[in-house]
Amino acid sequence: VPGPRRTQDRLEGRPTGAPAPAPVQEEAFVSTPDSDPSLGGNRQWARQIAQAVPTSRLGVEAVTAGAARFAIKEDVDAVVEVLQAAAPGWAELGASIRSEIIRRAGQLLEQRRGALIEVAASETGKTIDQSDPEVSEAIDFCNLYARNALALEDPGYLGGGSFVPSRVTVVASPWNFPLAIPTGGVAAALATGSTVVLKPAPPARRCAAELVSAFHDAGVPTDVLMLAPVEDGEVSRHLVTHDGVDRVILTGSYDTARMFRSWRPDMRLLGETSGKNAIIVTPSADPDLAVRDTVASAFAHAGQKCSAASLLVLVGSAGRSERIARQLVDATASLVVAAPDHLDSQVGPVVVPDDAKAVRGLTALGEGEHWVLRPRHLGSGLWRPGIRAGVRPGSEFHLTEYFAPVLGVMRVDTLEEAVEVVNAVDYGLTSGLQTLDSEELAQWLETVQAGNLYVNRGITGAIVRRQPFGGWKRSAIGSTTKAGGPSYLLGLGEVVRSDGAV
Ligand code: GLU
Repeated sequence: VPGPRRTQDRLEGRPTGAPAPAPVQEEAFVSTPDSDPSLGGNRQWARQIAQAVPTSRLGVEAVTAGAARFAIKEDVDAVVEVLQAAAPGWAELGASIRSEIIRRAGQLLEQRRGALIEVAASETGKTIDQSDPEVSEAIDFCNLYARNALALEDPGYLGGGSFVPSRVTVVASPWNFPLAIPTGGVAAALATGSTVVLKPAPPARRCAAELVSAFHDAGVPTDVLMLAPVEDGEVSRHLVTHDGVDRVILTGSYDTARMFRSWRPDMRLLGETSGKNAIIVTPSADPDLAVRDTVASAFAHAGQKCSAASLLVLVGSAGRSERIARQLVDATASLVVAAPDHLDSQVGPVVVPDDAKAVRGLTALGEGEHWVLRPRHLGSGLWRPGIRAGVRPGSEFHLTEYFAPVLGVMRVDTLEEAVEVVNAVDYGLTSGLQTLDSEELAQWLETVQAGNLYVNRGITGAIVRRQPFGGWKRSAIGSTTKAGGPSYLLGLGEVVRSDGAV
């Protein structure tokens, strides 16, 4: 198994296995000037950020108190230039060595699991029961993409063509999954042979710094993966529209993806975006299971997942629906709402990035709606979850993504009507059905419009490889392949045939 030293051998054009020259300082491999550690994303900067952004009990405060410097336009130019220069070496290294390095990054994440959970909890307010599986998901991404990278060198797999990676990929990652999603994007792009600049959402830059350090420690050269914490909109624009950037992997809101597209219509963009997701419960369903799965899908991570359940559509009589709603209220009221340093916390703080949509969802009722469980602000961003009944088709709550611990309940008479309600939203990310009737299942599968469908299971927490993740409609922009799926890597480059066709 070639180690990092061997990787550097290859990058420097030394024959593999040739004796390495006298030991050099790690910094010698950083192409940005050592004298200016502020220049984008080298290991030094990653460490600086990790140290400079103070941890606090509530991540939200840590973000605003963050002391690390954000990238400016000149940093972006320097980063892209460095990555462009390093790109041919990384691409020529070959899939098996890259694959081994990425696998090793996964092993380092496992070794650092405790520290990563701590950073995610303290920086972004993610509870331990949610941060822990995120580390597992990150490791799964490393292992899957490390393995899938090998196929990209198999002409049989490519139908006789060859795979040409991007030179520079931007991974723009969100704050709500500060570990798994950046790791997935970075591991995927690196596996294909592209260099990467990781641009984390500002509230999650310390997590990103830790991840970049892990990849570097696993053997990814510091000029192949760089960190660029960007806060300013103009600098973001400069980065994602940069001539030297070939591809952008974005996980964020639909509006952000649309903005990226408006900045550069020909951008090669893989955008995984928003969701307004529902669980349908039919009369045949097991109510206990339905309630358990709905509570977990709606309120874990305080509802701040694109995949979260925001609507519960009960099919059938008013009597049965009321019984389910009562059970739901009891189960929700018993959740432990606390800061993540409380080990049993099941609902952590609501992070409100730049608009008050989440708070509106927790406070303002639409016409005909009433609280069956009134949300309550406990201070420090903590909200007791809320459940509203009487949500009307076409209303604001029916159609809007809130990213908050609030669930709307609707009752309809038939499964067909339920699917109509679900399909009426502009998004199509996740969708759930609770049923014990195979005909209902078949009907739903045929008609529902969403990328990830779950039956008698919660609708969050897609498992890498088993449940490749990606949306329909406004839940995806420009992306046709699913993260964690068998063909994801193919979407990150071009397949060129020997006759030159793409
Ligand atoms: N992949 C995550 C899940 O299945 C959701 C990602 C997101 O919220 O962006 O729950």
